Amino acid sequence: MISLPQLPASQAPVQDHSLYRDHLSYSEISTFQRCSLQWWYRYVEKAEPDFISAALVLGSATHAAIEHYLQCKMAALPTPSMDALDQIVQDRWKREADYAPIRLSKTQSKQALFDTAHRMLEAFTSSEFAQGDADVIGLEESFETMIDHDLPNLKGVVDLLTFADGVLTVTDFKTARSMWTTDTLNEKSDQLTLYGQGCQSIADELDAELKLRFVVITKHKSPQIKAMEVSIDNDRVKRTRTVIRQVYRLMRAGVVVPSPSAMNCSSCPYQSRCQSWHR
Ligand code: SF4
Repeated sequence: MISLPQLPASQAPVQDHSLYRDHLSYSEISTFQRCSLQWWYRYVEKAEPDFISAALVLGSATHAAIEHYLQCKMAALPTPSMDALDQIVQDRWKREADYAPIRLSKTQSKQALFDTAHRMLEAFTSSEFAQGDADVIGLEESFETMIDHDLPNLKGVVDLLTFADGVLTVTDFKTARSMWTTDTLNEKSDQLTLYGQGCQSIADELDAELKLRFVVITKHKSPQIKAMEVSIDNDRVKRTRTVIRQVYRLMRAGVVVPSPSAMNCSSCPYQSRCQSWHR
């Protein structure tokens, strides 16, 4: 019997189990695409962030208040007052601040951000998206879908599922500095395309047509609110799967590099670690 030469232990391939993923999320994939080192800190090392950006907290706090409003609507409870919604924003802010310092820019103040959230919530509550007749059938609905047999499943949470006139609509709320252009919509569409895959079985059960849309609320003094539909395109689905496959191969290889840019780094919560990085 021929015995194969053994590699010295120092040269044997290392099986790094921390790089296996049980599942992927769109947020993990897009973090890796932006900066693989940031991905490493967040998803592999699970490092403590230096800070959380105020814009992120504002977005998640506004989301929480919208969710509460829609929960009351789904349960046929009285419509929550603006004071109640403001309180949810402030509670969420406090919760996030207990986790890590919230970083405000030089031109921001906590009160000014609360006022921005208040205006966005006023715009939402008086819009067709809060007042519409469609049945709310799901809020913050978790789903898991197979991307391909050789890839981890994709997990996600859909903000809102509504049903009306034979159409199941998947809605994702976004807060933004200014109204999205068609290019921004195109850039963000992969997320909803994948979420649509996750909700297709519900549409099939209801024998419904599936529609995907973002509802974008701007942070202006007079906020704009607008639905932007994402068309379901099979070529796009195939392309997105290929992107995920390649991203996952890179994740599994564990080769990460800093990708510095003004946009990536200004809000990155791992700046201090990145400065001393030398893997
Ligand atoms: S500071 Fe910039 S380059 Fe460094 S990890 Fe963060 S995003 Fe990447």
